Amino acid sequence: MSRILLVEDEDHLAQGLAYNLRNSGYDVEIASTGEAALEVLERQTFDLILLDVMLPGISGLEVAETLRKTGHTEPIVIVSAKDRTADAVAGLDAGADDYVTKPFDLDEVLARVRGALRRQVWGRTFPNSHAPETLEFGRWQIDFQTFLATAPDGEELRLSPKELGILRLFATRPGEVVSRETFLEEVWGLPGSLETRTVDNFIRKLRRALEEHPSRPRHITSVRGAGYRFVP
Ligand code: CA
Repeated sequence: MSRILLVEDEDHLAQGLAYNLRNSGYDVEIASTGEAALEVLERQTFDLILLDVMLPGISGLEVAETLRKTGHTEPIVIVSAKDRTADAVAGLDAGADDYVTKPFDLDEVLARVRGALRRQVWGRTFPNSHAPETLEFGRWQIDFQTFLATAPDGEELRLSPKELGILRLFATRPGEVVSRETFLEEVWGLPGSLETRTVDNFIRKLRRALEEHPSRPRHITSVRGAGYRFVP
């Protein structure tokens, strides 16, 4: 049973949503502030975090940012008010995976939750049978099953599902230019038209982690105005 942490300060809303999520087969825990959520996440693991932006103390955006900075890779679905899509985009930039807007349509929330959980699983078993199990470039060998990048000297890096998703898409298209839109659609399951820096932020992180000279990348290269190209 997938475990969901629901971070929501409005009690009746939290209870109603938790009730429906439980009815759909999820195990749900509620945190009513961002601080409480961070505390629970130190002690317990969840498969997904449903995170309201507007919270009484630290905001949902700060929670997402803190989690990503501290190495948490759980999928995060941001909940923002319908008239504040800027919050949703800021949430994606802060490391969230998807968003829903309030007032919710319950079916949409459930679809977003299912989608985020499914993409998390894809981190391990990609549906594309042409996708290789490993990818080698520079001094790194990336293993898509274990989420690990290893170097001959024994150095090991643990990659997040999104980072792996990006590398896997590169692996299936060596030498081809892959657009931001394609990354958003294939790795995030979001509309490609969404204006967000998310893809660029992730590419920057990958370069810092895996390129010998991140400012002069040899493998994860930019193609101005078109996207990114992987050079093995
Ligand atoms: Ca709220």
